[in-house]
Amino acid sequence: MDGHPVDDGAGSGTGTTGALTAPAPFPLGGTLLWYYAVCRREVWLMLHAINPDEDDPNLEYGRFLQAQAYRREKKEFQTGGSKLDIVTRAGGELLVVEVKKSSRALESARLQLAHYLLELEERGVRARGELRFPEERRREAVVLDQGLRDRVLAARADIRRLAGEAVPPPPARVQWCGKCAYAEFCWS
Ligand code: SF4
Repeated sequence: MDGHPVDDGAGSGTGTTGALTAPAPFPLGGTLLWYYAVCRREVWLMLHAINPDEDDPNLEYGRFLQAQAYRREKKEFQTGGSKLDIVTRAGGELLVVEVKKSSRALESARLQLAHYLLELEERGVRARGELRFPEERRREAVVLDQGLRDRVLAARADIRRLAGEAVPPPPARVQWCGKCAYAEFCWS
């Protein structure tokens, strides 16, 4: 899990003497971007180390989702706060491949991979991405165009903002709620 709430302090700077120095932005792992596309409230709960109820019957499904989000943490190629699944050369270009068990959380997978592509770009490395769903015999190209870049930047900024918030966003129904291990916490 990424560090505890530390805001990057963007836009702060009131006062003239003894002004607080904004802490450096904490590195964002791709896992947080993955969850961000699922639910902002869940991201807040994770950032604040609030764990779901261990007896919740949905925890197993939560673990499936978690495995989807975390599987790359085992791999060894690292950039910024992230570790990459497969990096290869294809037609003279760098290709970052992200392998997922299922395409059920496609938006999450796209945002996570786009975050990795942007981390590489920020280090001067141009790459394109590919999502692979071997069990579905499916692949999807992910190209970091301006629209996707803007989405990643907005998500990163919002996650950092959430980290500094004292209370979570109110629950808002999303397609995952019914199987979320936080469901009782959010909806009872
Ligand atoms: S139950 Fe729904 S609103 Fe609550 S954390 Fe899970 S996905 Fe988010």
